Amino acid sequence: MTGPRTVGLILCALLAIAFLAVDHHSARAAEPAQTAKPEACPRGEFRVVIDVGHTVDVPGADSARGVPEYAFNLRLGEDVKQALTDAGFAQVVLLITATAPWRGLVERAARANAAHADLFVSIHHDSVPDHLLQTWQYEGQDRQFNDDYPGFALFISDDNADPAGSLMFGRLLGKELQARGLQYTPHYTLPLMGHRRRELVDAAAGVYRYDRLIVLRETRMPALLLEAGSIVNRAEELELGTPERRALTSAAIVAAVDEFCAARAPPVATKTAAPVKRVNLSPPHSAFMPARSGSAAAPAR
Ligand SMILES: [Zn+2]
Repeated sequence: MTGPRTVGLILCALLAIAFLAVDHHSARAAEPAQTAKPEACPRGEFRVVIDVGHTVDVPGADSARGVPEYAFNLRLGEDVKQALTDAGFAQVVLLITATAPWRGLVERAARANAAHADLFVSIHHDSVPDHLLQTWQYEGQDRQFNDDYPGFALFISDDNADPAGSLMFGRLLGKELQARGLQYTPHYTLPLMGHRRRELVDAAAGVYRYDRLIVLRETRMPALLLEAGSIVNRAEELELGTPERRALTSAAIVAAVDEFCAARAPPVATKTAAPVKRVNLSPPHSAFMPARSGSAAAPAR
């Protein structure tokens, strides 16, 4: 009489154990992928400043369809901050200022320094020098474009307090962007770039040297400027306007920040070494050069 019921109970118990075992096993298998190096990078303490390039009033270059660069920078900056926060980085500051350059640029660096940031990332979108622009009609208006140089570009300054750290983060970010199918643009090495020609310090990752950028040279922590893509390129502009492209870039930044933070985890306690290093690296010239402006020759080695 109790035979079938007992068998049923035993079956249920066995199934429950089997489910628990499977569940336990799959949870263990998923663990490393979901929380890579949770103990290595103290995400709750690592301070990242995400600087939104330009201002509402001085919004940078227009895209091929007439959208100002600042609009692209703001949307990407907000997505990057959200992605970092979602990943557990609890000390992310989205730096937005209404102060025009060059005062605004100095202010950005000062705010990052005051926040004792561990990493500074400035978000921009690229254009080309005027002589490389062509004209087309978009929605009945003359607009300017250049379809030749799509891709991201990364810039660091040797005048930064921690050029080695800046380069390390640049290499990590270039690698992570490329792992997501994005390519860097090599055109900054071309003679036709004139005074905007730059030295490519890492040809695998797409890291250029641009010593005079104020936000990079005045910050006392590793700092990098990201040109996330070319908004004067008619095809890439459309991509850059999508949440999907912003998600790719944001994910690459999160991965690179995490790796950088993990690599830097032991020296975090020795942060006070940075100002000492800066004394040795101060540039001989003292004039503030406005970002991306005219008089800088191609950086000499
Ligand atoms: Zn810009």
